[in-house]
Amino acid sequence: MVSILKDEQIDGIEIIPCRVNGPRGIVKSFLLLAEERTILVDTGFSDADADLIVDRLEKAGKKHNDLKLCILTHRHGDHAGGLPKLKKILKFDLMAHELDVAGVKKVSGSDVDRVVKGGEVLPDCGGIRILHTPGHTPGSISLYLPRAKTLIAGDAILSAGEHLIPSPHYLCSDPEQAQNTVVQLINMNLDIQRVLVGHGDDVYKDGGRRLHRIVEGPRED
Ligand SMILES: [Zn+2]
Repeated sequence: MVSILKDEQIDGIEIIPCRVNGPRGIVKSFLLLAEERTILVDTGFSDADADLIVDRLEKAGKKHNDLKLCILTHRHGDHAGGLPKLKKILKFDLMAHELDVAGVKKVSGSDVDRVVKGGEVLPDCGGIRILHTPGHTPGSISLYLPRAKTLIAGDAILSAGEHLIPSPHYLCSDPEQAQNTVVQLINMNLDIQRVLVGHGDDVYKDGGRRLHRIVEGPRED
């Protein structure tokens, strides 16, 4: 039983806990069950995680060739590590930010088919917005799903018992940039209920408000 998962289903989004019994804790991948195709966000850490993802795709009633796109939130091995095995089983385009393309190749041996800069909108799920949210890595991206009012933040935001924090400095390529990313996200005024993160508890309600709290001053009582 994985305690960070809630019983609540999210329409069209499957959360897949990866590296469940591995080192350094769980990392999550996500399946977006859009109308025309299925999109995978991040691939876990290992071959075993790739198997887990294929399993969930099948359990969701999808065929292997429904999965047409894999988006990497960033280049780190616990998000791109399942790629080599997944590419043997499935056929999909790989999407990542231009500043993490070289890192993705280094970690997974994979070429990125669709290079993004941030600002792109995909036609799925009511228009998925690709947001450049650097700091954790230079090419970290987050996804905003307007219809589901959901932000998939990758590792740009971390969660500790639903308290949201920016990626901590020791995990960042640029800690100051990681802080600025939070401010930029807030300034975008997105209608965010849920914040789904790579590591830690997902937030299902008041995501925008919880994001705001990151930049508020210290409590006074
Ligand atoms: Zn990371």
